[in-house]
Amino acid sequence: SGRLEGKIVVITGAGSGIGRCSAQLFAREGASVVVNDVNESRGRETERLIEEEGHQALFIHADVCNPESVQDMVRQAIQHFGRIDVLFNNAGISHVGAIHEVEAEQWDAIMNVNVKGVFLPSKYILPHMMERRSGTVINMSSCVAEIGLARRAAYGATKGAVLALTKAMQVDYAAYGIRVNALVPGTIMTPFVENYLKTSYEDPEAAIAAIKTRQLGGELGRPEDVAYAALYLASDESKFMMGAPLYIDGGATFG
Ligand code: NAD
Repeated sequence: SGRLEGKIVVITGAGSGIGRCSAQLFAREGASVVVNDVNESRGRETERLIEEEGHQALFIHADVCNPESVQDMVRQAIQHFGRIDVLFNNAGISHVGAIHEVEAEQWDAIMNVNVKGVFLPSKYILPHMMERRSGTVINMSSCVAEIGLARRAAYGATKGAVLALTKAMQVDYAAYGIRVNALVPGTIMTPFVENYLKTSYEDPEAAIAAIKTRQLGGELGRPEDVAYAALYLASDESKFMMGAPLYIDGGATFG
């Protein structure tokens, strides 16, 4: 049987990239997946892809930085599946720029999605996990939190906050049988990266060549590279991993 047999998983930002890939993989491993996204058509497409393979999925539209929207999602998820075993805080947006290039509104927007967007689903789902004295939270950080990268100031700050949040949350909820860990990917080829390459660099080819040299294998990662790591964190196989980062970065951080 599957490595997530019978588990109910909520994945935020599952309409694209790493979130969609993880949703599909988790479903194949026996999980019932709540596919969340702020983008309705992309979220529904993930739901359809999973159902097509004969597995369980439910798309729930919500904006992870809006408290009412998140509370609504949690209510719907529990109403439909009865409980939540795993929360994967994956939704995130990017920004390319040094501090003098970051508009105040862009700073607020990225802090909102990448940090408040981890805080709110956690805030409203943890009480259910506490009641059941079991649960797993996976937070999406980035190697940019650990290594200084050119023109990633605001983005790096959000992903550093996610690491700090992961450790703090683990300490507070360990007594309830809840585990909280973080994923630390290098550069993964997804629509997210394709977009910022196209819109934020004069020479996207040179930018991609520079990114490739950071990964020791000379290639970018694929969404499934991160999805397999998320699968491990979601499953009971990782039960001794607590409050820790898991690096899937092709050696970008330590290599
Ligand atoms: P992606 O853009 O392909 O997918 C992100 C999804 O999140 C999109 O479908 C988007 O609609 C959704 N989303 C955005 N704002 C939302 C909101 N307010 N509420 C709900 N959903 C929202 O991106 P990806 O590359 O798959 O990245 C997923 C996560 O992984 C992000 O947190 C990103 O920062 C992180 N990450 C990505 C890379 C990479 O190289 N791709 C590296 C490290 C970390």
